Amino acid sequence: MPHIAVVGSGPGGVYTAQGLLRQNLLRDVRVDVLDRLPCPYGLVRYGVAPDHEKIKSLQGTLRAVLQDERVRFLGGVEIGPALPPARLLELYDAVVYCVGAAADRRLGVPGEDLPGSWSATDFVAWYSAHPDARDDGYVRAVRTAVAIGVGNVAVDVVRMLARGAAELTPTDMPQAALGILAASEVRDVYMVGRRGPSQARFTTKELRELGSLPDTEVVVEEAELALDAGYRAPAALPGAVRRNVEVLRAWAARPRLGAARRIHLRFFLRPAEIVAGGGRVAGVRFERTAPDGLGGVVGTGTYEEIGAQLVLRSVGYRGVPLAGLPFDPASGTVPQAAGRVLRGGRVSPGEYVAGWIKRGPTGVIGTNRPCAKETVTSLVADLGTRPSRDGTARDPLDGLVAAGVRPVTWDGWQAIERAETELGASLGRGSVKIADWAGLLGAARGAGEG
Ligand code: NAP
Repeated sequence: MPHIAVVGSGPGGVYTAQGLLRQNLLRDVRVDVLDRLPCPYGLVRYGVAPDHEKIKSLQGTLRAVLQDERVRFLGGVEIGPALPPARLLELYDAVVYCVGAAADRRLGVPGEDLPGSWSATDFVAWYSAHPDARDDGYVRAVRTAVAIGVGNVAVDVVRMLARGAAELTPTDMPQAALGILAASEVRDVYMVGRRGPSQARFTTKELRELGSLPDTEVVVEEAELALDAGYRAPAALPGAVRRNVEVLRAWAARPRLGAARRIHLRFFLRPAEIVAGGGRVAGVRFERTAPDGLGGVVGTGTYEEIGAQLVLRSVGYRGVPLAGLPFDPASGTVPQAAGRVLRGGRVSPGEYVAGWIKRGPTGVIGTNRPCAKETVTSLVADLGTRPSRDGTARDPLDGLVAAGVRPVTWDGWQAIERAETELGASLGRGSVKIADWAGLLGAARGAGEG
């Protein structure tokens, strides 16, 4: 009976577990899905914006996999010095790392670490109740915010900054973050791309949503958009890009409404410096760029400053090395071939990767399905080609416990879910997420877990 460990319970990890369950040759497989956090679902719980209920409902699909009788969720299990990859390989027949891309890319400009300059991932973690998130108040005393980058994460944070209490209260966001965002006096939010609208990374559905927010209008500058040849002549653009450009053209043609809040979409501005004033962020200095005709841009030597009290750097995620696993710092991924981990260019028997740590932080949630499938195919083909674990059929959980781990089981997670429902009811809201380690572990252990 093969016993497989999947490290990480986000979409990459759960689709890997599902792929293993679907193998006809592996009817008696056992899968332990380990996670550092007491809660499953990775970025579906801690990355998808709280107002995107439809995407969040994917949790139902992930839940069905984790509730399969051949699967065991083990939260609160950190792979680290006490439980290194080498030990996992002794305990399991194979280990699949699906640990995502936990950090953010750096901008590399002066002022990046000023108070008031945050990565979008910090801000997202805060409003998503990640127990490691820092609470800075973010929008306190902020009237203007700048998001650097024009991907879907930038669209998420810009939308969250523009939402009011009426729209945020029905979500499951933590009460403290709700209170701060509901009291926000942010009036202008800039989303700024270094290239043109036809090179933006956001998807049309997400872009369009910015135009439907209450009391908010989208402001674009026709002359700036028209620096982009694709904007001037969209017919030749690929469909997805053309649809983005059409949305922007419609906004450019619309008269200003005088709404209470404005979302400004700016392009061809490359961040040069995050400007300080009074010891914290006072704005961002951008260099105006021009298209180079090849999809890139060149600097023009002219500069523009946008005054702001909050800067959210939204320029992509970055994988983090896991001690004991190889890592390519250039791509932020684990070197691999068809999901097999490579050590020194050679396949490391029994070790696999799937998801963002395998292919980098791109694609939507569904992209993880084919990615996991490829890895599972490699794993199944390899089974039996390395000596079986420990030479015994002992439960790997004994080995985890011997390493000092005290896992949160599925029952513990369900107790957290119940506690979140009760917390929400006490606040007159639907389910409200618990945002701290003590609260999560207290709820889980209160379930009578050992
Ligand atoms: P992304 O799509 O890679 O976008 C990153 C943005 O940052 C790009 O506009 C990029 O511009 C810009 N950028 C990178 N380095 C920069 C620099 N030094 N200076 C200025 N700008 C810079 O990353 P993401 O927004 O973090 O999203 C990650 C993935 O999650 C994506 O696949 C996204 O679609 C997905 N996601 C999906 C949803 C959804 O479906 N609702 C929500 C959130 C995230 P260049 O193009 O010029 O490099």
